[in-house]
Amino acid sequence: MVLKGTPVSPGIAIGKLYCYQPVHIEVSEGFCGAGEAEAQIARFEEVKGEAAKEIEAIRAALEALGDPEKAKIFTAHLDILDDVAITEEILQGIQEENWTGDWAIQKIYAKFERMIRKAKDPLIRERAADFDDVRKRLIRRWYGVQEKGLGALTEPVIVAARDLLPSDTASLDRKKVLAILTEVGGTTSHSAIIARSYEIPAILGIPDLMSQVRQDQSAAVDAGAGELILEPAPDTVKAYELKREEFRREAAETREFLGAEARTACGIRIDIGLNIGGADEQELAGEAVTDLVGLFRTEFLYMGRDSLPDEDEQFAVYKKVLQRYGGRPVTLRTLDIGGDKTLSSMNLPREDNPVLGNRALRLCFTYPEVFKTQLRAALRASVFGSLWLMLPMVGSIDDIRRATAFITEVKDELDAEGAAYDPHFKTGIMVEIPSIAVVADLAAKEVDFASIGTNDLCQYLTAVDRMNPRTAQYYQPYHPAMFRLIGNVVEQFNRAGKPICVCGEMGGDALAAPVLVGLGMRKLSMGLASVARIKRLLSSLTVEKAEQLAAAVINLSTAPEVEHYLRTNLRNETRQGA
Ligand code: PEP
Ligand code: MG
Repeated sequence: MVLKGTPVSPGIAIGKLYCYQPVHIEVSEGFCGAGEAEAQIARFEEVKGEAAKEIEAIRAALEALGDPEKAKIFTAHLDILDDVAITEEILQGIQEENWTGDWAIQKIYAKFERMIRKAKDPLIRERAADFDDVRKRLIRRWYGVQEKGLGALTEPVIVAARDLLPSDTASLDRKKVLAILTEVGGTTSHSAIIARSYEIPAILGIPDLMSQVRQDQSAAVDAGAGELILEPAPDTVKAYELKREEFRREAAETREFLGAEARTACGIRIDIGLNIGGADEQELAGEAVTDLVGLFRTEFLYMGRDSLPDEDEQFAVYKKVLQRYGGRPVTLRTLDIGGDKTLSSMNLPREDNPVLGNRALRLCFTYPEVFKTQLRAALRASVFGSLWLMLPMVGSIDDIRRATAFITEVKDELDAEGAAYDPHFKTGIMVEIPSIAVVADLAAKEVDFASIGTNDLCQYLTAVDRMNPRTAQYYQPYHPAMFRLIGNVVEQFNRAGKPICVCGEMGGDALAAPVLVGLGMRKLSMGLASVARIKRLLSSLTVEKAEQLAAAVINLSTAPEVEHYLRTNLRNETRQGA
């Protein structure tokens, strides 16, 4: 039997399945009698203390193992455990609603988790797993049950689970885990991040996985293709052994490209940007192997908290990134919030069509103080590096002019205060709404640079909600219309002599990137996981071939035709592991 899921970390594995069932405790609604609240609160505080000790022990062990990045996940868990708002609501639930402590934990954590799961940004949504993890730990401690992780595996196995929480994987022995398979989770989940950083093949989001597999069943996994074969025939096993050897060879070769300068086979330099969502070490891990920050999604600083970050807090974060990149550009995108990405610190009204609503730049126009605080922080930080300020969700030239007026106002304020900023910082736009892409020639006259947000551009061009799984088949980044429209933007900005980049997912996509280069793009920005692969791909691609691909693609009729054409014609450049 063949099962399919989302490929999140490539590789081949052959072995026996280990069906992982973490401790599960059902919590039912419970109320305490008069006078019991105090005892429940005391028990809650006790359990919280025990949970903190457990988390701290895991964190310290990871530090000692030399894995500070993973240790950070558990520092975040300690922060969640100590979150004032959550604790207050739990105490209120016990005192005012007469909830039992376990029920209060269950209800309040579930509420916060739900809020985070509604975030538009997949990176933020995936953080719901941390809240889930802390909640389960508290509940487990409440009932005095011991932790059971993946640390006790005695032989190498393919781990199959409904979901894997950070705690499940904390003690994971990478030599004993041949592959990870789950029902839940996507490319940006913890399981995916950990699998990629350990180079463990992983397929997530396999529908009904756990009802179709059994303990010790034999399996073969091609994680790059998102394919799991249950009880493979001896011939299949042999074929997978060969694939595994080939993959290992290719992956080792690809790794060699991580630190290389990105050049096409004909010697044209392509700048590789890094997409980041913060200034911690995990986010900045790709600094040494990239030429710029192509996209800094600053909204992460605003999310999952009760108050807006003030100017000084933002300044410190922006300064850190700018300093780390020295004189290399840091493209700082101003707040892209709204739509279904809400902030607990801002009481934003509900809208019928939030994705088409008062979001990003439009929201900044509605809340000028929020916008100006961010602009002030960014401009003040500009003296520490090369700031490229980027405006999201620009739909018209009016939007650009209105935003520029705010920037001028902030500059005047800083001048009046005698506060320093780099007068040569650049101002640019995200091209992610089709209307601005069509008038790219006019936009290029107004700004210093642009970067194409292919994720939203595809959403708005094809009129498909990018978050709706029921319409996923209509969300087609390989639609010929996408390449035609991108082609127009690149041409207009190149003609105007203004830098142009792609910072949406297509920039790090091995099939799309060659076409983008063929359309004239010389700057691609992506997550760290794609950098080596794209550098390697470019090294085996000539601009002439890229141009031929682009010319062919824009004349094809459908997205599946484009994909098929690219897979066929890029077979050599996109080998496994590459
Ligand atoms: C995009 O829309 O392509 C983009 C890069 O921004 P985000 O994914 O944050 O909307
Ligand atoms: Mg976008």
